[in-house]
Amino acid sequence: LAKAEATNHSRFYIASVDQEIRARKQLEKDLSQALRNHEFHLVYQPQISLQSDRIIGAEALIRWTHPERGMVPPDEFIPLAELNGTIVDIGQWVLDEACRQAASWAAAGMPLRIAVNLSAVQLRQPDIVGTILATLGRHEIPPGRLELEVTETGFMENLEDAVEKLRQLNSAGINIAVDDFGTGYSSLTYLKRMPVQHLKIDKQFVQDLLVNEDDTRIANTIIDLGRSLNLAVIAEGVETQEQEFYLRQRGCQIAQGYHFSRPLLPEAFVKFVEAFHGKLEENVENQPYK
Ligand code: C2E
Ligand code: MG
Ligand code: MG
Ligand code: MG
Repeated sequence: LAKAEATNHSRFYIASVDQEIRARKQLEKDLSQALRNHEFHLVYQPQISLQSDRIIGAEALIRWTHPERGMVPPDEFIPLAELNGTIVDIGQWVLDEACRQAASWAAAGMPLRIAVNLSAVQLRQPDIVGTILATLGRHEIPPGRLELEVTETGFMENLEDAVEKLRQLNSAGINIAVDDFGTGYSSLTYLKRMPVQHLKIDKQFVQDLLVNEDDTRIANTIIDLGRSLNLAVIAEGVETQEQEFYLRQRGCQIAQGYHFSRPLLPEAFVKFVEAFHGKLEENVENQPYK
């Protein structure tokens, strides 16, 4: 009986793994058609200066409405898109769309800084620097209004190449942020060598900031590191007033999270800006990101 049960169990297991692989293959196939079928859109999450209480910019985040499955979260499809290479076209679409939106907001009197996530796979493309600069040019966006968010893992895979490209982007005036800081390899040596302006404290450390002492210490350490390397620190995933207060008094310069706003559709974003008690930070591209 035990043996029969075990067999049934493994048969069930194999069937479900098989199903999973098939679902994944299907999703990959759907992914390669999603751009053409206009299934992507961007949402924008405000970034707030804790020093001036003003909105200094927005992070653009991709959303995929799958024709049958509905909303598929980026944490599920971005890794897949990186594996099969579709991230290159998808990432270029994101950059183009974010710049188009930024240009339209600027024309309406809202010259915001836009942060775009750049995948390591995109960074590895030989023509990435030219492509990004051309996109900015096409939309007449000053480079200082663009921030690229890269992860530590993205740096490490081909450090020399990544350093060189980020240096070129940076000397053109584009800001570079290290996303999910503290979750990757976190080598202090590369931070010294990288042309980086901002560190984003990963939301996992912000979430339990005031309940878990380890997370408090990690957040404090990142803020101190930012201060000593002269990098502004952005806290992501700020969900409560208490977290905001703590981060502000601890010297963190920028915050982003549900406490201020969820990522918003462009129309809702404009309403948020209009309703926000502060104003837009002025001349963002001419100021240090504080
Ligand atoms: P990320 O770049 O670290 O983005 C932050 C994530 O935290 C976003 O999830 C955002 O919606 C979420 N978030 C913001 N505030 C809060 C909060 O207060 N609480 C909680 N629990 N979450 C919050 P999202 O939009 O699902 O994106 C997940 C990840 O997918 C991103 O992490 C990024 O790595 C990737 N991603 C999203 N859009 C793009 C894109 O256009 N290109 C690339 N390459 N990756 C993207
Ligand atoms: Mg990000
Ligand atoms: Mg992040
Ligand atoms: Mg993340």
